[in-house]
Amino acid sequence: MSMFCEYGQQAGIGASMSVIRKDGKVIVVDSGISFEKNGELNFQLGPTGNYLQGEYVDLFILTHDHADHSGSAPRFVREHPEAVVVMSKKVNESLWVMLYDSLKIQTFDIKKAAGQGVTIEQIFNEDDLVNFLNGANLLIIEEPGWYNDIVEGWDIGFYWAGHNPGAISAYMIPPSGKPIQITGDVSTHNLGIVDGVLTPPESFLNGFYELPGLTLITEATNGNRSINRRPGRSLQEDLAHHIEKIDKAFFKTIDLVASRGGVAFCPAFANNRIPRLVKKLVQAGYPVWVDGLGRKMTHIQLQEAEQWKKEGKLNFFSEDRVQGSQEREAADRGELGFCVILAPSATLEKGFAVEHAERILPGTNNALISTGHIFEGSVTKQIFEIERGRTIWLNRFKAGPVAVNVRCDVHHFDYTGHDYQDGLAERILKAQPETLIIHHCNDDGFTGLVDKVTSNPNLMCRDIHRGIHLQEIPLA
Ligand SMILES: [Zn+2]
Repeated sequence: MSMFCEYGQQAGIGASMSVIRKDGKVIVVDSGISFEKNGELNFQLGPTGNYLQGEYVDLFILTHDHADHSGSAPRFVREHPEAVVVMSKKVNESLWVMLYDSLKIQTFDIKKAAGQGVTIEQIFNEDDLVNFLNGANLLIIEEPGWYNDIVEGWDIGFYWAGHNPGAISAYMIPPSGKPIQITGDVSTHNLGIVDGVLTPPESFLNGFYELPGLTLITEATNGNRSINRRPGRSLQEDLAHHIEKIDKAFFKTIDLVASRGGVAFCPAFANNRIPRLVKKLVQAGYPVWVDGLGRKMTHIQLQEAEQWKKEGKLNFFSEDRVQGSQEREAADRGELGFCVILAPSATLEKGFAVEHAERILPGTNNALISTGHIFEGSVTKQIFEIERGRTIWLNRFKAGPVAVNVRCDVHHFDYTGHDYQDGLAERILKAQPETLIIHHCNDDGFTGLVDKVTSNPNLMCRDIHRGIHLQEIPLA
């Protein structure tokens, strides 16, 4: 039987892995990890289903390099040497950095757990990583295009998805007809480091949406979050306007911190968020210092990085241990003049952000600025919840917990890289699918998007499903 099934996402959004079984072929999209906590121990968890061991997989598509989509992909590919593996060139480049970092964290977590008598299974090793990113069956996408030779009898196209540099959506025409589109994570709005994509141009689609019986599988992270629409304005114009408004408030906060002689501190993810903030901030004329993995990712994802470094508009903390820590101290204490410090991780659980936080959080003139989703149970979340002047525990690498008094002010600006409800709904309307599968969302995201599209008289589709963990949805 033909079907779609989500093997990851036990709890709404988490490790993602989507399986399409159709016309005798098995196509798997993404194999991510989720981050779990058990007391003091951290560990990574892959999707359910034991990586489909023993089943023949024809094609493995990696939509993009975020950990919830790619974090266990080297392991999946180890279990499936028979599968053709597809990813874009940009994603491949980024994963050489991100997966090595992930392996380092995994190894550290496993060691720590072993010290407490707890065994954690390693998801992948270095050989898996190298085989995955440099394997014999690897097809690297440099430009959007169609392939009729990767799965027998199928025509499969890949086009950019917005969201992150090199992120792709897949467009598939199986031998029995009835096409399938799976979005991966998408954004219609431009992110500075990558252009948004609603739907590909007709030069790529070549009548794809006119084929009868389309199944559209879409993410819906922000399915319940809409932007303000203005009469007579296009979706792109309104999205740009929405982001400009966030920028204005963000810059105003930074100006305030600068005027009182403080330091602006943005703990953020290295992949996507830091390069994106660098672009915004440098273009607006602010002095920026970047730390940790944010340095490598800024080089990979931001074209202007090298030029701006040369011009002194963009600074990277030194890779040299002694010089790096001197620069960090000086920057955190405001001795380098006003600057915006960008350091991973966004959760303040690890990375150089922890070191900066220890010095910056107690300063009343400083500001902690979060620019993304604030994760439940994270240190960042705790800081947002406590009153000023209260103490939190920061977990310093190797040194262990330190108590820090939080006296700086805190701000949140949500620069989401996922489509808002407006983009998600518009894509569905343009595609006019016969079957709509909504996944990669929480309950609110699902309900929000369904309400939005079903209330539109122009949508023909009434066959709507939610792609939830291990629930098989029949495909036409
Ligand atoms: Zn993503």
